[in-house]
Amino acid sequence: MSKYINKRLEQMKAYTPGEQPVNDSFIKLNTNESPFLPSPLSVEMATEAAKKLNLYPKLECTELRKEFANQYKILPEQVIATNGSDEALFFAFSAFCENGVAFPDITYGFYKVYADLLEIESTVIPLNDDFTINVENYINIGKTVFIANPNAPTGLFLELSQIERILKSNPNNVIVVDEAYVEFGADSCIHLINKYNNLLITRTFSKSHSFAGARLGFCIGCKELINDINKIKYSTNPYNVNSMTMAAGLGMLMDYDYVKENCRKIVFSRDYTISELKRLGFVVTESKANFVFAKHPDYSGMTINELLRENGILVRHFDNERINDYNRITIGTLDQMKSVINVLENKIGG
Ligand SMILES: *Cc1c(COP(=O)(O)O)cnc(C)c1O
Repeated sequence: MSKYINKRLEQMKAYTPGEQPVNDSFIKLNTNESPFLPSPLSVEMATEAAKKLNLYPKLECTELRKEFANQYKILPEQVIATNGSDEALFFAFSAFCENGVAFPDITYGFYKVYADLLEIESTVIPLNDDFTINVENYINIGKTVFIANPNAPTGLFLELSQIERILKSNPNNVIVVDEAYVEFGADSCIHLINKYNNLLITRTFSKSHSFAGARLGFCIGCKELINDINKIKYSTNPYNVNSMTMAAGLGMLMDYDYVKENCRKIVFSRDYTISELKRLGFVVTESKANFVFAKHPDYSGMTINELLRENGILVRHFDNERINDYNRITIGTLDQMKSVINVLENKIGG
């Protein structure tokens, strides 16, 4: 750190991304990427767009937003494209959090980081012992709420009727529902944006749409909320989505059947992984996401993590005391998951 950095940033903890190894020798199940390639059409459209990289991207992402709106039965004015959903979240933190934010203690790590960066007061609410959300804690809370649904890294899904209770009891605050993992078998609250003008949803193409490297996310809500988000976009990075990603994203939307089929495969491999891990004595949450969250009564989380790493498999371990015993294992191909189970079976037995 230099002596020039702002005083308050000296203490601030930045987000720690999962390891991105320089070589490709690992089975990489540590950052919830898709094991499937982007669709050929999306790659072709990105390649075409690359020929015009001398020009700035289209500011409004009109075609992409139209197609997205069409697919999810909303209006183009109700969605904005962003540079990954991390940017959508950053915009939401920048726009709507004057009275502080509330989110669970075990959730996506970026919420706390953005709050700290923007000097927003955080109310961190512990999950129940079984990692479910106690909705009562959010009724009439009077703060901007961030809920990942399904949650990360637990994978647990909160019923939409419960989300609605939070929305109804906090009419003067925006409730942000982060649907990064919604395509893996959970219900979306997109259809609720016409009913609640305080509902803002973030989506990403990083997980379900095989687009982690492209950086494409979306923010969805009533027209007025999206206008507010646009104000932040035009105050930070008007060209937030690059031309190649914009074109590729449109291709990916046009190939939604391919996306759905990949998600179906992931769900199948996830259910296989959960039942095999249980057979080996692991405790596993009922994940609705493209990862599982598991601990073994006889081995520490770090032991399991290192054991897998020694066998060429990367999974994610978090230092947070409450979840120290766990690892978050991304669902890859069925073959990759069989490798994980094989290693565990050989090393720790059934
Ligand atoms: C991965 C993830 C994101 C961010 O995804 P981007 O790659 O920035 O689109 C947001 N929220 C949750 C809960 C995530 O797991």
